[in-house]
Amino acid sequence: MEVKILEKDNEKIKFIVEGINSALAGELRKIMMTQMPTLAIEWIDFAKNDSALWDEVIANRLGLIPLKYKMKFYNFKDKCKCKGKGCTHCQVSLKLKKKGPCTVYSGDLVPMDKKVRPVYDKIPIVELADGQELEFEAIAQLGLGKEHAKWQASIVGYRAVPNIIIGKGVNLKKYVERCPRNVFILKKGVLKVNKALECNLCLQCVELSNGKIKVETEETTYLFNVETASGLSPVEIVSKSIDVLSDKLKEFEKGLRKLK
Ligand code: SF4
Ligand SMILES: [Zn+2]
Repeated sequence: MEVKILEKDNEKIKFIVEGINSALAGELRKIMMTQMPTLAIEWIDFAKNDSALWDEVIANRLGLIPLKYKMKFYNFKDKCKCKGKGCTHCQVSLKLKKKGPCTVYSGDLVPMDKKVRPVYDKIPIVELADGQELEFEAIAQLGLGKEHAKWQASIVGYRAVPNIIIGKGVNLKKYVERCPRNVFILKKGVLKVNKALECNLCLQCVELSNGKIKVETEETTYLFNVETASGLSPVEIVSKSIDVLSDKLKEFEKGLRKLK
């Protein structure tokens, strides 16, 4: 298996994986979206809420705020040494106390662990009118996207890498213009493939050229687009997904051995 990173920033990563099949590509996507440990608010103790919104509505909004955290410092509550009672290794408290008139933002949450913080400070939670007060303590813990969307780590798309073959005598400008992804260019009157990875496999060029242009897919090479939707960086998501996949395979192997 070979991985080639094409683009990367704090929110997205684009890479090609060679030497896998569609089943493995699909499994990797599922793991990156739903089986990464992310931190989200799970419990809230409201001391005061004079706002126009019910506690439940505010709680729902708070749960969806993505939180940055250091992966190595937190355990799942049920796998922690505290045996699910809750301690500094499996949960973090975030407090808030505000008085209107003001808008309460995600950045107003005060985490007890300095390494934990909302990914964005300007997510609005609620508007407080003059004299209205909001005070609560929220508890965030690790979870997985397969349990609840608030723990979904990322949005992932993948597709097989296309192999575009231009047959003889196909030199027309119309293919350049018809392609919705600007894959082709004309160089000195000759049609060439310029950006094959942009191809979305719509097959318009194949139809228009009566098959003189062929678009085949490499069933062992896949292009992935990963965008974080949580406090984890795209690189953390990709590398952790490989660990999760290899743990799953080991577990599967163990299960098979027991059957023998
Ligand atoms: S299949 Fe569609 S996107 Fe791909 S090269 Fe042909 S026209 Fe362009
Ligand atoms: Zn604990």
